[in-house]
Amino acid sequence: MPTDHIEIIGARENNLKDVSLRIPKRQITVFTGVSGSGKSSLVFDTIAAEAQRQLNETFTAFARSRLPRYGQPDVDSIDNLSAAVIVDQKRIGGNSRSTVGTITDISPLLRLLFSRIGEPYVGYSNVFSFNDPQGMCPECDGIGRTVTLDLDRFLDRSKSLNEGAIQHPDFAVGTWYWKIYANSGLFDNDQPLSDYDEARWQMLLHGDGGGIKVALEWQGGQIPSKYEGLADRFTRLYLKKDINEMSDRNREVFQRFVSATTCPVCQGARLNPTILSCKINGYDIAQLSALEVSKLVEVLAGIEAPTVAPVLESLRDRLQNLVTIGLGYLSLNRETTTLSGGESQRVKMVRHLSSSLIDMMYVFDEPSVGLHARDVHRLNELLVKLRDKGNTVLVVEHDRDVIEIADHVVDIGPRAGVYGGQVVYEGDVKQLGDAETLTGRHLGHKLPLKSEFRTPTGAIPIVDANLHNLKNVTVDIPTGVLTVVTGVAGSGKSTLINDVFLGQHPDAIVIDQSSVSTSTRSNTATYTGMMDGIRRLFAKANGVNAGLFSFNSTGACPNCQGLGIIYTDLAFMEGIKSPCEVCQGQRFKPEVLEHKLRGKSISEVLDLPAAEAVEFFTEKKLRDVLRAVNDVGLGYLKLGQPLSTLSGGECQRVKLATELHKAGSVYVMDEPTTGLHMSDISHLLDIIERLVDQGNSVVLIEHNLDVIKNADWIIDLGPEGGSQGGNIVFQGTPRDLLTVSGSYTAEFLRRDLE
Ligand code: ADP
Ligand code: ADP
Ligand code: ZN
Ligand code: ZN
Repeated sequence: MPTDHIEIIGARENNLKDVSLRIPKRQITVFTGVSGSGKSSLVFDTIAAEAQRQLNETFTAFARSRLPRYGQPDVDSIDNLSAAVIVDQKRIGGNSRSTVGTITDISPLLRLLFSRIGEPYVGYSNVFSFNDPQGMCPECDGIGRTVTLDLDRFLDRSKSLNEGAIQHPDFAVGTWYWKIYANSGLFDNDQPLSDYDEARWQMLLHGDGGGIKVALEWQGGQIPSKYEGLADRFTRLYLKKDINEMSDRNREVFQRFVSATTCPVCQGARLNPTILSCKINGYDIAQLSALEVSKLVEVLAGIEAPTVAPVLESLRDRLQNLVTIGLGYLSLNRETTTLSGGESQRVKMVRHLSSSLIDMMYVFDEPSVGLHARDVHRLNELLVKLRDKGNTVLVVEHDRDVIEIADHVVDIGPRAGVYGGQVVYEGDVKQLGDAETLTGRHLGHKLPLKSEFRTPTGAIPIVDANLHNLKNVTVDIPTGVLTVVTGVAGSGKSTLINDVFLGQHPDAIVIDQSSVSTSTRSNTATYTGMMDGIRRLFAKANGVNAGLFSFNSTGACPNCQGLGIIYTDLAFMEGIKSPCEVCQGQRFKPEVLEHKLRGKSISEVLDLPAAEAVEFFTEKKLRDVLRAVNDVGLGYLKLGQPLSTLSGGECQRVKLATELHKAGSVYVMDEPTTGLHMSDISHLLDIIERLVDQGNSVVLIEHNLDVIKNADWIIDLGPEGGSQGGNIVFQGTPRDLLTVSGSYTAEFLRRDLE
């Protein structure tokens, strides 16, 4: 008899304390616990990582060298694993050719339909694809947009070449690219471009068709080179590339100098006229792909064609899954790069729901992110459906309504970081409510409605906003209060706040979930600005130079350059990350470690979690920062912990903690409760309240009812998502919201307070 459990023995990744447990197969197991308790360390870094690693082992070395690398997790053994599918919030990368339709495999079905019953008959299903040379619009190569160089931004014509007329940083005065023009002998380098005659101007932009050779200085000598006009060079270097495949820096620079317009030939349809002439019930394939999915379902229902019944059936199934999960407002032609993290996760989920593989292990990371209370039960239905197909479903989640459907709960704690890493409860949901754990205690403990609402000090008006689905929205964003923008997914919250409002108010402080830094050297202490103070304290206590205590200084371990670890890349095998054997991971030279502050070396201080550091330091400035870090629920972060190890929600809260001392600003945050346990939400609210008390205005996009109940002002969008949304359904205090009909937020708020 095969055992019916995944057996994990001795897991020790990150903060896990030799954890052993059994997870029932073909059931839904929800992992709970405060942020930093070790849920991801167990579910993603141990179980999913081992499943991926074992799967990769089955491939040849050649294939493996092309797959992502997975290190061996620190665990004694894991038995009875199934192949894992990880459905996380990472944005679906890819390029402009990746759409909701392609990623869910719905587009190929639609093409098949057109190849069978489209009139006039055109050809094989592939020709209906904008990725196929036979199908794509020849003008835009199937991208639907044409991008042109904006000469007015690229060149400052009041300046000469020597004065830096070329605005693009790669062509700055003195650079290699600049010399191609300045040293060509073709131009008067001191003449403003506006004084060029037509021939000179053409020469600058387009050359003479490739005939001219110029001599370029190179390492003291001269090399002959073919002259290429500026506009032609820009086109070749940048315009021909997919911007989604550029580095962040190049993309940012690129976008300053171009303007994108809908392709004038296909009007954004991406396909050529022949393909677009083929129709079903009067619709061409581009029109169907542009419909909202919920509308597309209706159109397909009107097609009577017995020969393609199975194709229609599959299409309907998959589209219905999108609707069920609350994504009916998306269209198949929506580029995946424009989806939010929560939308990305749900789109991936739909793709897997249609898979006929069984006995897989599906791993979800807070799938309720971005979902309104109204739609959480739909998510639950899909999780149940996955399980009932015979799969094992593992879910990391904080939402009460999702925890509710667990067959089995694993609660990790008791707290975060070094104070966590143990299984504190295993069993069914009913008894979790009686468990003496943070999750158990908060499960039935909801926050009350705020009793007094602040009066706005003023307002920032938004007038006649029409972007995406917004319908002439005119609304005041009040200042001096906590405003929460609510509404079902797709109702227009991010469009209103992130696009329209922030577009008008670039000064607002945005605290988002993007990673704080890509440098391996930045850590909690450097990012929050504490490191300078700590170095100075060490210097003063020991009568030495503060520079010694920096990772970038002569005081750092020369072997690992102050990183404490060594990365070794091995061809065809897993890369290895090992502690530096010279400093034993302590990052500094032994003589630097001799210097103590209140009995601790700099390495020991950097190893302190913020919760302990707040007791260790007596200096007010440091304590204020550390308190803020604790208050945002990150007391478990070690001062020296690299920021590259933080999740999106953690990054957002680190940023919040660092911003707390400012005043008189407008703060904008998108779902700050992401990754946050119920027990930490009141701390988060305390901090936000403090920000407002200091004279700031705070605008949140949030679904969490505990947060909504604590707003001073609510702006509710809807009533539905997509074309059925984009209106202001309500604005006012949460108490007044309770009496409103026609608002899903009002309805679920009433239920919550019952
Ligand atoms: P959760 O998923 O419950 O929020 P995590 O598993 O992400 O918790 O984190 C558990 C602990 O391990 C925390 O103290 C966290 O800071 C730490 N941690 C997580 N990833 C790393 C890493 N790559 N390196 C060092 N510490 C880490
Ligand atoms: P919410 O934030 O309330 O979930 P959004 O503002 O993201 O809603 O979406 C509102 C509407 O605008 C939806 O119909 C969505 O599909 C559309 N939309 C959002 N972003 C884009 C985009 N980048 N391109 C096209 N449509 C978009
Ligand atoms: Zn085109
Ligand atoms: Zn070292």
